[in-house]
Amino acid sequence: MPTKGTCKAKDCEREVIAKGYCRKHYRLWKAGEMPHPRYKICTFEKCRKARGEKGSLCEEHWNAAHAKAAEAAAPAAAPAEAAAAT
Ligand SMILES: [Zn+2]
Ligand SMILES: [Zn+2]
Repeated sequence: MPTKGTCKAKDCEREVIAKGYCRKHYRLWKAGEMPHPRYKICTFEKCRKARGEKGSLCEEHWNAAHAKAAEAAAPAAAPAEAAAAT
């Protein structure tokens, strides 16, 4: 049975020094390069804000993604509706 265990980073077998990480990965963790175990962060590239309630993005990026989707959907739906009406 290991005393402290090994680093929890994927494919890393080094000895844990802090936060469940080895020296190398603990440094990355402190630099914000490792996922925080306590809360999930936005999956948007370079964004490390906490996720919103709605999914894998922070509120800002979720709103941006959905505003874009609504914009893209609106012009496409209008002509189809007009064609069906006539
Ligand atoms: Zn490690
Ligand atoms: Zn974000």
